[in-house]
Amino acid sequence: MIAPVVILVSAAVAAAPAPRTLRLDYLHTGSATEERFAFDGLVLEGPWPGPPDRLVDDTNLGKYLYEVRDRKSDTLLYSRGFASIYGEWETTGEAKERSRGFSESVRFPEPRQPVRVVLKKRGRGNEFEEAWSVSVDPADPAIDRSGPSAARAWAVIESGEPRDKVDLLLSQAAKWKDLIAPGTPLPTPWPKEAFEAAQREIQERRRRIRAEKRPEQEMEALFLEERERITKLLASGPHAGKVGAFEGALYEAKGYYRPQADCIMFTRDQLAFCAVCRRAIERVIGLYARPAGAGR
Ligand SMILES: [Zn+2]
Repeated sequence: MIAPVVILVSAAVAAAPAPRTLRLDYLHTGSATEERFAFDGLVLEGPWPGPPDRLVDDTNLGKYLYEVRDRKSDTLLYSRGFASIYGEWETTGEAKERSRGFSESVRFPEPRQPVRVVLKKRGRGNEFEEAWSVSVDPADPAIDRSGPSAARAWAVIESGEPRDKVDLLLSQAAKWKDLIAPGTPLPTPWPKEAFEAAQREIQERRRRIRAEKRPEQEMEALFLEERERITKLLASGPHAGKVGAFEGALYEAKGYYRPQADCIMFTRDQLAFCAVCRRAIERVIGLYARPAGAGR
């Protein structure tokens, strides 16, 4: 199941003048064994809503990273790490059976001169490696300059200038070695067999409720029962609440590790983000909204 968590910190109408925002649309296609990118188009949007002093992303977060580099000097003008639906989808069972494509976009301040947009992806050593690049000339007559559609927009929550605020779409973080207490066994034991047995049993009961066309209340009751049971189970292990490396993450029971036994990125239990998710979220918020000049 793909369940991105959206945290809306602020939604505000842009107010600051120049530069404008340039949006690069591309198609991201592939399967579990192949990945391709294809140029789709360029769109000139409204004023750049980001802070003018944090153009380079120094968080080292995200599965992908895009860089905007001056075409002549190769100077880095803008960069951001990100996670995409494609990046999540390619880890699912479906990616082993068929290819799929997703429309994706990256945005950056409209450059004054021709640039190269470089898309990177984490390789085997977790380092970013170039996956695709495309030349962008801000003078290109093919850029769509028609502006936003006439749809009326209004702020639901407005908590300040957009350049100091953030609208976030979050996914898994990368490294957390420094948060693991010394002496914690790795991989970290947790009630994995009991968890998987419970999941199988609940799935079977869910399947039966559907097959027998039982009332929807039974499904909701099962969901609440599942949540209570899983919460208790994951709180019962010897390292519950601690940071470690717990096998079973990213929709795979084996080979992927998560930092805590339970986290709302893993279950739908009623608890907060784990320590590692929390730190990643704070870093990304800080990249946009920390006071200028403040450290991380
Ligand atoms: Zn987490």
